[in-house]
Amino acid sequence: MNIVKRRIILRFPPQSGDKPLSYVLVKDYDIRINILKAEVMPGKRGSLLLEMEARQSNLDKGIAYLEAHNVECQPLDKRIQFNSDKCISCGNCTAVCFAGALTMNQVTWKMEFNKELCVACELCVKACPLRLFDIDFRDGN
Ligand code: SF4
Ligand code: SF4
Repeated sequence: MNIVKRRIILRFPPQSGDKPLSYVLVKDYDIRINILKAEVMPGKRGSLLLEMEARQSNLDKGIAYLEAHNVECQPLDKRIQFNSDKCISCGNCTAVCFAGALTMNQVTWKMEFNKELCVACELCVKACPLRLFDIDFRDGN
């Protein structure tokens, strides 16, 4: 059985709760979910970072279900911009990345970014003196 794990940013229309949708993902599509980050403001669009683990076919169906209910779904790595060309490997960002997505390679002393581990905490955005990160988790609508 081909089980895959994906980190997906969901954006909900105003006044829609995530709980019934999460329930459907688990019950009807057999998707294991882990909420890594959530921001919901009254009257505004809500954003959620979900780690979803399931067979690829179930994952595809679950995402199609969400999109049919006006929930935008996009892989987290598509929402992360990192200008690696300008990185000077100073290590500032690795000191704040508790998720372990940003690390210093002990051989090359270059900073390495594993987007698979990112939890969109955005701490690196301010930590980088060159402002090389942009994490698009929420929008202003
Ligand atoms: S947003 Fe930045 S600091 Fe936070 S987990 Fe992702 S890479 Fe690490
Ligand atoms: S803080 Fe900025 S310049 Fe320094 S290692 Fe991280 S990304 Fe590179």
